[in-house]
Amino acid sequence: METFAIDNLRITVDKEGTNSYAKVSYPLRYGRFSEIVTPEHIFQFNLNGELKFIKGRGKRWPHPSEWLKKTIADDWVYYSTGGYAAGTYDCFGEYYVPCLSYPSNHFISWDPFEEDVVRSAIEAWGDLHGKLTGLHPGSISERGREFIALVILNSPAELRKRSETLHKIIGDGISVLPPDTRHVDYEVIPIIIADGCLYKCGFCRVKSHFNFGERSRDNIESQITGLKYFFKRDLCNYNSVFLGQHDALNASVDLIEFAAKYAFDAFDLGNSNLKCPRLFLFGSVGSLLKSDHDALKRMDRLPFKTYINIGIESADQETLDKLGKGVAEGAVQKAFAKIMDINRRYENVEITSNFVFGSDLPDGHIESFLRLMEKSFDHRLDKGSIYFSPLMNAKNSRWTKSIKRKFFDLKVKIPAPSFLYLIQRL
Ligand code: SF4
Repeated sequence: METFAIDNLRITVDKEGTNSYAKVSYPLRYGRFSEIVTPEHIFQFNLNGELKFIKGRGKRWPHPSEWLKKTIADDWVYYSTGGYAAGTYDCFGEYYVPCLSYPSNHFISWDPFEEDVVRSAIEAWGDLHGKLTGLHPGSISERGREFIALVILNSPAELRKRSETLHKIIGDGISVLPPDTRHVDYEVIPIIIADGCLYKCGFCRVKSHFNFGERSRDNIESQITGLKYFFKRDLCNYNSVFLGQHDALNASVDLIEFAAKYAFDAFDLGNSNLKCPRLFLFGSVGSLLKSDHDALKRMDRLPFKTYINIGIESADQETLDKLGKGVAEGAVQKAFAKIMDINRRYENVEITSNFVFGSDLPDGHIESFLRLMEKSFDHRLDKGSIYFSPLMNAKNSRWTKSIKRKFFDLKVKIPAPSFLYLIQRL
């Protein structure tokens, strides 16, 4: 690590953050990064010199534990404390609320991107870039010069282009990340092993226009080669992979195993700056029911802790029909029993589930969910989180305003970790 001052900038290169993800109520940084501090802001950059975080300094910034993050898909996310007294952790499983700069199923009425202080932080990044471009580095070290040159290369316009490059490499955008990726702050390397999904549900706003189809091994290998080049030096700050898209569990176990192992070796995840590699994928009632124990055993032996998130939506036939989900209530019951069995049986595989949460659903939705809980648990389990995805049509309704209270009323009756789930893309 090296720190130097130039003009009114304090620059530190090669700072070391922590080496494992943690649930904390303050801004913790992971892996290696560099930083430029101005009188008004702290800008943090990854090892490619790409902007990653901005935090305001001084009293005008909304909260000392809040910050802005730029994703690899060039989206801004504002990390809000949400007011700890209001139970942010109990609601989301993290000490922050991710406020997104694009439409999602977000139900928080406060929009940080309408705040002058947040907007001026984003503008300040453009100003800083301009300032660095005209800077005469003088007597600073070679490493310092190299860092400044990298930041100059990664202008705001260049970062926008990189998002397009990412989607070109993997052959699509990622319309939704599994809720479990919160465990690694959504910092995953995405690889698409299968497009589309089985159901094309009427209510779903993130489904792809593709029918379900596996990618070839050649295609997966070429994505991984492209991604290695895309992440470049910053690859060592990643320890997790998302196998897309919406039902990767429906791909053959041979393909899942191939993609996971190939990625682990090619990205050298065993030597990442971050411990505990994790693999994330989505599954469905259909793909879960057809996965046999041989497949699960093979996943359990992968060099990752694997999280599979199953879109169940409801255990009530009337609700499933209303959602336009072509699944029978009986299949949901069987799938949930299988989730419980897998979570007890396999150490390195964790199956989580999604249910919808909304005002316009039949009464049977919550009633059947509670019956399912009663039937499935004889004691509390800390594995297998249950997520509730607020339906987007609930936005702005009176129901939306009381969503947290309604969720907490339900949460106390669930003998497993349970959280609200806000859809994030990549
Ligand atoms: S909810 Fe899942 S299964 Fe249904 S359309 Fe959306 S992505 Fe496909």
